[in-house]
Amino acid sequence: MQSGKSRLYPEIDFDAPGKRTGFLRLPHSVHRSAYGWIPIPIVAIANGTGPRVFLMGGNHGDEYEGQVALGKLIRALDPGEIQGRIIILPSANFPAAIAGSRTSPIDQGNLNRSFPGDPDGGPTAQIAHYIETELLPRSDFVLDIHSGGSSLTYRPSTLMRRPGPDRFDRGAEMMRTFGAPVGYMVDGGWGEHTLTAAAARAGTFHMSTELAGGGQVTPAALAIAEGGIRRVLAKLGVLAEAPAPSGPPTRLMQVRGQDYYCYAPEPGLFEPLVDLGDEVAAGTPAGVIHCQDTPWREPALAHFGHAGIVICKRVPGRVERGDCLYHLATDLET
Ligand SMILES: [Zn+2]
Repeated sequence: MQSGKSRLYPEIDFDAPGKRTGFLRLPHSVHRSAYGWIPIPIVAIANGTGPRVFLMGGNHGDEYEGQVALGKLIRALDPGEIQGRIIILPSANFPAAIAGSRTSPIDQGNLNRSFPGDPDGGPTAQIAHYIETELLPRSDFVLDIHSGGSSLTYRPSTLMRRPGPDRFDRGAEMMRTFGAPVGYMVDGGWGEHTLTAAAARAGTFHMSTELAGGGQVTPAALAIAEGGIRRVLAKLGVLAEAPAPSGPPTRLMQVRGQDYYCYAPEPGLFEPLVDLGDEVAAGTPAGVIHCQDTPWREPALAHFGHAGIVICKRVPGRVERGDCLYHLATDLET
């Protein structure tokens, strides 16, 4: 039986002017701490009237670029530089973030499969519920900063669910503004339990990223994250100015269905046959899966089911049947 009201308690006043730092207190009674709470860092920076922006990282705890970039932004921004209000939640699934893990070690929750959440559920469901019922309704625009995490690496990208005709041009413009090498629109996606779906329910304009990954932070990906966030804030009118993108213009692309993804057909060791940025045809061999327990057996071959550009690639060498090896994108069709 849901009570409807979140038990998370914010230490900061989102509507007060200035820079407020503190924690969302998530009550968590355990052996070590009977009346304790999980401290989820949250920041609000406000000055006058203007756009209301929500910046989020650490939706998946092993995606580090957004967490680092948002920490740097929190320390750098002076309230006098902005117009409007920014709420920053740098490590949204905090238990996962401090474990360096995609999912929470407390309840195994994947925050980005947990919306609309549950105020009476485990910590991950409670965080999802707080974001959906308290943070998204306070925001006109949300930027949710993902990367490939531990198992994948990306050509740095922005993405969004394909907007309707009334928002299509604005969506394309926001992806160009961020300035990553690729910006892609997704048809369908991962269902109704993602932040993307939650933002649609709240009427909040949503954009996400997939910035490199591979369980590390690279200077190149971090520079795209930091510059991209500031360019989006400037485009929205929150910041007066932002650095120009240093790379080529964003290539606008799309990801249309399951045949854009390539999976391991057998368990074993993954020998990649193509790399990020390569152009492939339907039927192109994607990878060899070597059989470890019977190495004299012929290895299995994975093939691409669609033509396109490789924008995502698996990192670890060991695979199970069903692990994602690659995904593709094709040029955006309007
Ligand atoms: Zn993610």
